Amino acid sequence: MTNHLAKENFIYAMDQANEPAMKVKSGDQIVVDTYDCFENQIESEDTAFDSIDWSKVNPATGPIFVEGAQKGDILKVRIDDIEIGDRGVMVTGPGLGVMGHRMENFEVKMIPVRDGKAIFDDKLSIPLNPMIGVIGVAPEEDSISCGTPGAHGGNMDTKEVTTGATLYFPVFHEGGLLSLGDLHAAMGDGEVSVSGIEIPATVKITVKVVKKQSITYPFLENEAGLTALVSKETLDEAADTAVELMIDLIRPQTGLSLSEMTMLMSAAGQVQVGQIVDPLKTAKFHVPMYVLEAYGVEVWGRS
Ligand code: CA
Ligand code: ZN
Repeated sequence: MTNHLAKENFIYAMDQANEPAMKVKSGDQIVVDTYDCFENQIESEDTAFDSIDWSKVNPATGPIFVEGAQKGDILKVRIDDIEIGDRGVMVTGPGLGVMGHRMENFEVKMIPVRDGKAIFDDKLSIPLNPMIGVIGVAPEEDSISCGTPGAHGGNMDTKEVTTGATLYFPVFHEGGLLSLGDLHAAMGDGEVSVSGIEIPATVKITVKVVKKQSITYPFLENEAGLTALVSKETLDEAADTAVELMIDLIRPQTGLSLSEMTMLMSAAGQVQVGQIVDPLKTAKFHVPMYVLEAYGVEVWGRS
């Protein structure tokens, strides 16, 4: 069945103490409305830094309690569809993003979305890649701001989190408590200015509980293959962990030795960057589908 969760049901931090906004069954589809990451506060390019209420950023719609999900399970989330609004917003400024040390003023750019493109200026339109910046479950311990990524997902700002992808999250608490928001009309690897093309959206997902199989970080599956998504203090640590988790996940199904597997990953695996501007950095390690198919690797009932 399809459920609808309005954007007014949102949280600023992923936390086991959050009351569920909705309860669904494994296999249900949910339509989720989202604010943009500024809670739709920015309406013009004249918006001053101080006129934005910065306590109201990165709202994530949720949490969604998935019946049957228990600690140690996996929550599978397929992104069925993303419908974005008709206007996005970008920002940068002093202390924000990679170039923040050279910015003198906070600046806002409104970006109209028309005919499948984001109109950057009169010379350039950027192809859309509607994607979810923030998506995750209640973390194992404490409360984690929706602006920070981690083992629970959260603000991973990774461009492959888009229609057709399936995410796998570790479940740390009963029901999983899934929330999502911070959609981008498009974003490049790194998200260097500190924002994608931020935009309100309606997202359609299908959730499923995978029993008795555990992971420690999110994974993403799409037509291209399987990707580990790891967020750490540095990109170096994140990339190393992503490689190691992937090798440990798929090696048992390949019959390869650790050294053979490592050589295979060196030949065909791809270390990639999610984002480099959030409180923790997100690295990706991607294994192409042809590698999985050659060894008949089945990940959590891949089909
Ligand atoms: Ca974000
Ligand atoms: Zn964003």
